[in-house]
Parts: sequence; structure tokens; C-alpha cells
Amino acid sequence: MLRPGEISYSDAVELAEADFRALAKVAGEYTRREIGEAITFVNNIVVNYSNVCVAKCPFCAFYRLPGAEGGYTRSAGDVVKVVREAHTVMGVTELHINGGFNPELTIEYFEDLFSAVKRSSPITIKGLTMAEVDYYSRRWRMSYRELLERLKSAGLDAIAGGGAEIFSEEVRRVISPNKAAGETWLRIAEVAHDMGIPSNATMLYGHVEDVRHIVDHILRVRELQERTGGIMMFIPVKFVPWNTELYRSGKVGGPAPPTLDVKVVALARIILGATVRKIGAYWLSVGKRLASTLLNAGANDLVGTMINESVLSSAGAQERTTVDELAHIAREAGGRPALRDTFHRIIRYF
Ligand code: SF4
Repeated sequence: MLRPGEISYSDAVELAEADFRALAKVAGEYTRREIGEAITFVNNIVVNYSNVCVAKCPFCAFYRLPGAEGGYTRSAGDVVKVVREAHTVMGVTELHINGGFNPELTIEYFEDLFSAVKRSSPITIKGLTMAEVDYYSRRWRMSYRELLERLKSAGLDAIAGGGAEIFSEEVRRVISPNKAAGETWLRIAEVAHDMGIPSNATMLYGHVEDVRHIVDHILRVRELQERTGGIMMFIPVKFVPWNTELYRSGKVGGPAPPTLDVKVVALARIILGATVRKIGAYWLSVGKRLASTLLNAGANDLVGTMINESVLSSAGAQERTTVDELAHIAREAGGRPALRDTFHRIIRYF
């Protein structure tokens, strides 16, 4: 019998051959029955502190090399300004802050930035990724624990789930050869969780991986969660190939089909069971319509409003949403919409 949360690697690989609709049905019903009707989301703003990066990941369209045109680094004052405005005007409760591996930045830059944000607004800071922690700890010659202690004291509340990509080294060699190994990501997560800093965990799929890598990745997330309990949410992130080296080189021909999006979320729920209670339907990477479908295939969180700073500082053209729209999507999918905080405590139901 299929027991979500206990399934083995070989059974999961075999199960992945099943029709995506059948997997979605099992995963969706399990989620409603064992975890609940609530479909949650946070009201948050996304700020990239710098797009300067030396890692040169072939899947990334965001970075600029040091000195290249278009590179930027935000000052603490700039970040405070947009965060304060997002809090007072839009009721945002979380700052999601990430950036590249910028060799010019110091620990004091992050300490000043985080403490300035905390002084200015009652905001939770969920920031950096295990990959950034790894890079900066090597750059600044600090242990992971020392670096995290300083950032926690300055105001870091939780770590974002990015940088996990796909843990398999076979895949990482192609998509992110200069980034921390999968094992390193997991080791840093373990240190952070042990220090009382929870995190998310992501998985970037839809590029050169196959189903074995997907299953292996989700199983390693489950094992980590069984050891630490520090993962708040697992978020499958679909690879967007446009403007990336992976697309230009022909290694990836285009975006994965929607059937894979459904299958990945369903497999994630079946493998994780209730060990990780929240699985994200990441509307920014799959679109809002498909995110709604994923809410009946094992996902139970819409991640967040993810308001981009450009929405505030200019007439940003990016796809955007509101708390009310996310509540509508959750309701349409048959769930009970709920606004949550970073730590998944319910602020209010709709
Ligand atoms: S480390 Fe992050 S910002 Fe830098 S190239 Fe890789 S994905 Fe892009």
C-alpha cells in the first residue's frame, strides 16, 4: 500500500511513471485529509540586494559580473525605504532578500542592512540562501555558525530555500558548476536549523534532470526534515529557460510541459507526506492558472504576494498579485484561504 511520507527511492521512481492525473488525485486528497483545508500565503516584498555575482550559473539570467554594465548593489537606506513603504501602504509583513555572490560585500553590509530594516518596520527578514551563506563564509573566512550568529543578531529570522537546485552532483556540474555542492547546502541547513533559524527548501526542475534526480532531491529534503524539523515549506521551482546559457547552448529546448509541474508537486507530497506540511504552488514560476491546479495536486501554499521592489520604485511590468487575488485563487481551488506570517502562523482567514 502507498504510504505518503514513507515511500522508498525505488518505489518513488516507479511511481513517477504513473499518469500525472492519478498522482495528483492521490496527493491532493491526502493533503486535504491529513493536513487540512487551509491554503496559505504571506504578504511579502522581494528585494535583491545585488545582482553582481561571480558564480556564472548557466541557468541564471539575473547576474552581472563585477564591473559589468547593469550591475547594482542596494544601500541599506534604499532597502529600508521600499520595505517601509511596502509595510505601511500594502501591509507587507515579510522581506524576502537575496542576491548574487558579490565579492565586494562585507558582513557589516548585511548587519547594517538587516538591523536598519528591523529598526524601521515590524518586518520579518527571510533572506540569503544556503548557497550565499556558503560563498560568504568562505569569502570572509568564517564558520557557517559564526556567520549565521552575526546575521541572526542583526535581524535575520529565516533563510530562503533557493540554491538547492537539484542536489545530484551529476546535474549540478551542468547547471551550477561553481555553486556549493548539494551536500553543503544540506549541511548548512542543518547548522541553521540547529541554531533556531528555520528555512524553506526549493527544487529547480525542468532543465537537464530526469525523474531519478527529482526523487533523490525530495528524499534528501525528507531526510533533512526528519533530522531537524526546520523546513517550513518545500517549493518546486520551474526552470524558465529564456535568456540563459542553458537555452542558448541548446542543452534545454524550452520550458517543461505543465504535466511535469503537476507530477513534481504530486510526487513531492507523496514522498514528503506530512513531514514537510507545506508545499508551495509557486505562481511566479508556473503562472497563476497552473498554480491553482497544483493546489489540488498536493500543494497547500501560494508562497506569497512576492511584490517586487520595482513595483514600488517604478512602474514595474512584472506579473504581480495581491492578497485578495491569492485568496481568490485558493478559494477557487476549493481550499480555505488564509494569510500567514513567515513562520506559517495564521494571521487571518478570508
Ligand atoms: S549564484 Fe545565484 S545570482 Fe549567481 S549566477 Fe548562480 S543563480 Fe545567478
